[in-house]
Amino acid sequence: MLSVEEALQKILDEVDTLEEETAPILESLGQVLAEDIKSDINVPPLDNSAMDGYAVMSADTTGAGEKTPKYLRVIDTVMAGSISRQEVVPGTAVRIMTGAPVPRGADSVVQFENTDDDKHKKSAPDQPVTRVGILSEAPSGLNIRKAGETISKGAIALKKGTVLRAAEIGMMASLGYSRVKVIRRPVVAILSTGNELVEVDKPLPEGKIHDSNGYSIASLVKRYGCVPRMLGIARDDEESLISKLKQAQDADMLLTTGGVSMGDYDMVKDILARDGELVFWKVRVKPGKPLAFGKIKGKNKSIPHMGLPGNAVSCMVSFELFVRPALLKMMGKKNFAKPTVEAIMEDSVKNDAGRRLYDRAIIERRNGHYYARLTGSQSSGILTSMSLANGLVIISEDRKIVNKGETVQTLMLDWNEEVNI
Ligand code: AMP
Ligand code: MG
Repeated sequence: MLSVEEALQKILDEVDTLEEETAPILESLGQVLAEDIKSDINVPPLDNSAMDGYAVMSADTTGAGEKTPKYLRVIDTVMAGSISRQEVVPGTAVRIMTGAPVPRGADSVVQFENTDDDKHKKSAPDQPVTRVGILSEAPSGLNIRKAGETISKGAIALKKGTVLRAAEIGMMASLGYSRVKVIRRPVVAILSTGNELVEVDKPLPEGKIHDSNGYSIASLVKRYGCVPRMLGIARDDEESLISKLKQAQDADMLLTTGGVSMGDYDMVKDILARDGELVFWKVRVKPGKPLAFGKIKGKNKSIPHMGLPGNAVSCMVSFELFVRPALLKMMGKKNFAKPTVEAIMEDSVKNDAGRRLYDRAIIERRNGHYYARLTGSQSSGILTSMSLANGLVIISEDRKIVNKGETVQTLMLDWNEEVNI
């Protein structure tokens, strides 16, 4: 049986980065840039004020102080978005708002707090200020944002390969890009298998259960920036399975759940082996041992297929460990690992399966340490153990027992703000 690392490597070896597409910048959140973004303009375009205050000549403020104000004649007011036609000459100042271009002649801005502006505004609020007292020295360049200081004209603002987050999308907007070339999002076909399964909106006959895997897996697909395509439920017979698989032919990946264990009707892996290519079946991991990985024939290409185990927890854990990295690679990303932290166990854990154990846990930081406690029964069908968890405790295959108080590695599925602990 393959180790987790061996299985993951085999999967990554078989998937390729997808082609590029052009997307509106807001749609590109989380995608990988497929071109360098070059700046045709300076951002900001002109020297402008970082404060509300007075644009002055620095030399006019020499010796200015609370008790020794330097008085200047106010010749104009300029707001953000406007340009002052006036030139600041010795003995004059322009009242200026944050973001407004610095008028010609001025080389520094004195913020309102260091002037007597408020005195004028209090005594005659409706009158323009005609004379202002400067109450501190303003060295040249004070409170001035230089043209091009964010991004200079001609520079590469964002490199190909960058993962686009809010800041990068803001940068593209400031450069006047409305669309951008990115690696396209994988379309992931999702098929639940099992005679016991019933759609969520149908009543439950005796002996049946609702298909929950289709929804948890589609949510993970969405969460990591890909596009789920729900194919619904296939019965445990060849005909049903093969007809549903037809709808996956132009997807970039196929995920099935169920039908890969030893049960009598577990045929997904057999059909795979016959009609496609089975790369491996079974991994030394718990939960998730019966994972099957292979390829099916698509329209113009072969499509990677992961046969996830049917148990509600197993299929989600298998997704995090094996599907997520494959999807990230398809999206052009380089960093596939979720964060891990070292935590002190608050429960003891037995591992007699000889497989790598990923137990569901609540990982919390208290007094400078991380602590991990299990979320109740670890049976692989109990989805609440996953719902309560924000991480997985990792117990290596050769470690038979971990006692309370011992340190373990934990894989963070979510940081605290996203879970209900
Ligand atoms: P299997 O791998 O098909 O033997 O399924 C293992 C267990 O997972 C069985 O108890 C199934 O009823 C359950 N199961 C399989 N598929 C689903 C699904 N889509 N939603 C909820 N439970 C499922
Ligand atoms: Mg089944």
